[in-house]
Amino acid sequence: TIPCDVTAEPTYSANDYKSQIKPVWCPGCGDYSVLSALTKALSELQLPPEQVALVSGIGCSSRLPAYTSLYGFHSIHGRALPVATGLKAARPDLTVLVAGGDGDGFSIGGNHFLHACRRNIDMTYIVMDNAVYGMTKGQASPTTAPDWTGSKLTPEGTGIEAIHPLEIALSAGANFIARTFAGQPNHVAQMICEGICAPGFSLIQVLSPCVTFRPEQRGYKEQVHQDWSTPVTDRKEAFLRLLDDDGFATGVLYRGNHRPFHPAPDDTLSIADLEKRFAL
Ligand code: SF4
Ligand code: MG
Repeated sequence: TIPCDVTAEPTYSANDYKSQIKPVWCPGCGDYSVLSALTKALSELQLPPEQVALVSGIGCSSRLPAYTSLYGFHSIHGRALPVATGLKAARPDLTVLVAGGDGDGFSIGGNHFLHACRRNIDMTYIVMDNAVYGMTKGQASPTTAPDWTGSKLTPEGTGIEAIHPLEIALSAGANFIARTFAGQPNHVAQMICEGICAPGFSLIQVLSPCVTFRPEQRGYKEQVHQDWSTPVTDRKEAFLRLLDDDGFATGVLYRGNHRPFHPAPDDTLSIADLEKRFAL
């Protein structure tokens, strides 16, 4: 179920959100499902494509904007969130989506991630997490388990603990936090819809297998379990859920009530106001 009121007559189909560009992802990559789920979610919400902007960083999953008909910004490594924050500050009327991977978002962009959660600006961050740097041919990322020996750079494992993005998001102040799995595209679409409809900063971690450099992730389908079917609104309860988390529970972990950040209280910044404010 989607908590938004979708009253409009259906005008847009999922295909209306796709571009003509054919994805270059490896066959079987989880990111294909995320692309379809995103277009399905947008058609469920009937958002006009020209009122949605999709910002990404660098990496396999960050190619996503090119494959959509939305306004897109393929930005620089780790910087998708500040670019999106600037966009939302200038154009609060747009639905702002951000997409990327675990390396881009939690290593290079790790600091931005903290402050985007904390600022709680109204945007939806979709992280396709495969615990590897796929584009640069398979190095360990911040979400890689310490005993993963699949890279020549870390033949005996990384030796350092993986970070837990959902714990970080919950600590830092994100208002909506969910996890889903690319092998269940309807669930991904539902999480994206709920994330878009939730006010403030929404994090959606999508377990998205990298079949080329982490072929064992094909086994995710046997490991995921939809345990978080009822979202909790109490932060303490959400932390308790995470203490028992094996990394494969899916659903809405937390739906908070923090006030979203609004750069302009009246939401009516004109181009002239912006020029004056930033002395352009
Ligand atoms: Fe997907 Fe991995 Fe191929 Fe990148 S390298 S497109 S993440 S399967
Ligand atoms: Mg990755």
